Amino acid sequence: MEPAGAPPPSCAPAREAEEPPGSPALPAERPRDGEPARKASEEAAAERSRGRGPAGRAARGGGRRGPEERGARAGRRPRVTVDSSKAKTSLEALKISLRQLRWREFPFGRRLPCDIYWHGVSFHDNYIFSGQVNKFPGMTEMVRKVTLSRAVRTMQDLFPVEYNFYPRSWILPEEFPLFVTEVRMMKESDPSWKPTFIVKPDGGCQGDGIYLIKDPNDVRLAGSVQSRPAVVQEYICKPLLVDKLKFDIRLYVLLKSLEPLEIYIAKDGLSRFCTEPYQEPTLKNLHQVFMHLTNYSLNIHSGNFIHSDNVNTGSKRTFSSILCRLSSRGADVKKVWSDIISLVIKTIIALTPELKVYYQSDIPAGKPGPTCFQILGFDILLMKNLKPMLLEVNANPSMRIEHEQELSPGVFENVPSPVDEEVKVAVIRDTLRLVDPQKKRRKDIQSQTSEHVSETREDLLDAGPADGPEYETSKSTEAGLPSLCLKQVFPKYAKQFNYLRLVDRVAALFIRFLGVKGTTKLGPTGFRTFIRNCKLSNSNFSMASVDILYIDITRRWNSMGIDHKESGMCLQAFVEAFFCLAQKKYKSLPLHEQVASLIDFCEYHLAALDEKRLLCGRGVVERRGAVVTCPTDGLEVTPALHAPLLNRTAAAGKFADCRSHRYPGAVSPGAGRD
Ligand code: ADP
Repeated sequence: MEPAGAPPPSCAPAREAEEPPGSPALPAERPRDGEPARKASEEAAAERSRGRGPAGRAARGGGRRGPEERGARAGRRPRVTVDSSKAKTSLEALKISLRQLRWREFPFGRRLPCDIYWHGVSFHDNYIFSGQVNKFPGMTEMVRKVTLSRAVRTMQDLFPVEYNFYPRSWILPEEFPLFVTEVRMMKESDPSWKPTFIVKPDGGCQGDGIYLIKDPNDVRLAGSVQSRPAVVQEYICKPLLVDKLKFDIRLYVLLKSLEPLEIYIAKDGLSRFCTEPYQEPTLKNLHQVFMHLTNYSLNIHSGNFIHSDNVNTGSKRTFSSILCRLSSRGADVKKVWSDIISLVIKTIIALTPELKVYYQSDIPAGKPGPTCFQILGFDILLMKNLKPMLLEVNANPSMRIEHEQELSPGVFENVPSPVDEEVKVAVIRDTLRLVDPQKKRRKDIQSQTSEHVSETREDLLDAGPADGPEYETSKSTEAGLPSLCLKQVFPKYAKQFNYLRLVDRVAALFIRFLGVKGTTKLGPTGFRTFIRNCKLSNSNFSMASVDILYIDITRRWNSMGIDHKESGMCLQAFVEAFFCLAQKKYKSLPLHEQVASLIDFCEYHLAALDEKRLLCGRGVVERRGAVVTCPTDGLEVTPALHAPLLNRTAAAGKFADCRSHRYPGAVSPGAGRD
């Protein structure tokens, strides 16, 4: 069953290009390496000497409470603090959002920690040890065309039907021979197939360097592609047309948390239109970008581009206006939304395993560090039969709230765009509302309040009125805001999608054996330990064969030149090795069942090992991620037999979870939570 229920549309059209990586950062006032704690205490001391900090007040007022404490106890809260010094082009929309929320902005950074750090481009900032950052480490790398294609391909290998929303793709230059061979074979088996392909340089954006070809040999391999990898993809020849024009959809998606997985989708998106009537690709029209590419940044230069304040017309419209039109023609709009939600969840499921590896590398468990969330831009094409197809994911969707206006031919000026402001401010503001750090603190306070009601009343009398601008009551702010434009889709629909999260579980094994914190690649010893601890070697699979497997796969992945910074086995290589082992061990099953069975097997042996170590008083040395136990049918043991080894409740729950992985219809007690 797919998720039902379309989010009611409400947003308006806006600009959709993405933030190009690498634009210079604004200078921020930051403590230098090794200094943050000292700087923070210096600043606190300065605040105290100015009589503003809690201790200063205590010194002057004979134990009177500081503003934060008084505010909290008076039912008010200290304002959420946001460092916007790296917001770049999203700064304007962020400022408006913060004003609406009455949160406190630090445009030049702050020496004391902030609650939220808003970055325009990427996660990286070495001096953040707490709070939340609006980017995940590794996201920019993960959504590059090549990496995204690889991640989706892994899922297509496991679940070909579920992942048929991504066009068949090949990675250049390494898969060029495969591309040529596969196309030849497909043509031979179906002579009526007359495909077109689209070549997209890796890391490109705004249509940069993209071209269409009919014949695989027309790929421009010489020079540029060798130095710049690319993806060649089957071109979707029959898109849905509106007013005879091709268009695509930009949807804003909030990845609120990786663990547990939490995903929200904005209720409305933007539709970006081509500016030449569409014709199916022929050798004659292949080069006509205004006909085939929907990028705003390209079509703005066509004489036919229409700026319109009306959401139903023009070259950029709301997605909801398109849905209304489809609905009036009798289309099943609910199904379209539910397919889109499905596509978004499945895509994020494909991305999460590697994101978790990046996360533990940048923010190792046990070390202080911020938590992360991120707004993503999903670009989706609707086919003529209304099936949504994923084109790409943007880690930095443009949050500009102005658009270019051509004053005279070739002369452009940025003018404010009310529609951009309406959509993007809502997405940013509601993202902030969802990650509001005060909500958690309020919950904590609420649970304490019931225990200290009488004490609080006395304190209120003692405290007097809280400092006005420093505090905000939650009710008064929320009351003035519209309802959230972001709708939760995960864990809401977790039950229907959890069975797809196999690579996530493989990644948990990988992370456990990484060993040294901060690395993203597994060394040969780590791989051997994995094999040994999971009891995967036997007379048919010696440790010498294990080493050969490691060397073969690692060498191949490293020769692809993905990441030369570290040596060792990357997650994708480990996944490949894992699939090999699964195929070896469970020959007759389909791949996803082979992999699921091997994961169960490994998780079971690791849990047993952990249990044994605990009983022996050795503790668990290398255990880092939550590795679940999941003995299932087909293995040597049953959960009932091994119940004494494991926590019974957990084991029963996990077993039920496993059943639901294998048989998606079966509802388990643990399913639906994540
Ligand atoms: P960029 O990041 O450069 O915008 P995209 O992958 O979004 O790259 O592709 C640019 C445009 O090309 C898309 O907006 C869409 O109009 C068109 N396009 C991309 N891939 C396909 C495809 N497989 N089939 C049809 N059109 C495509």
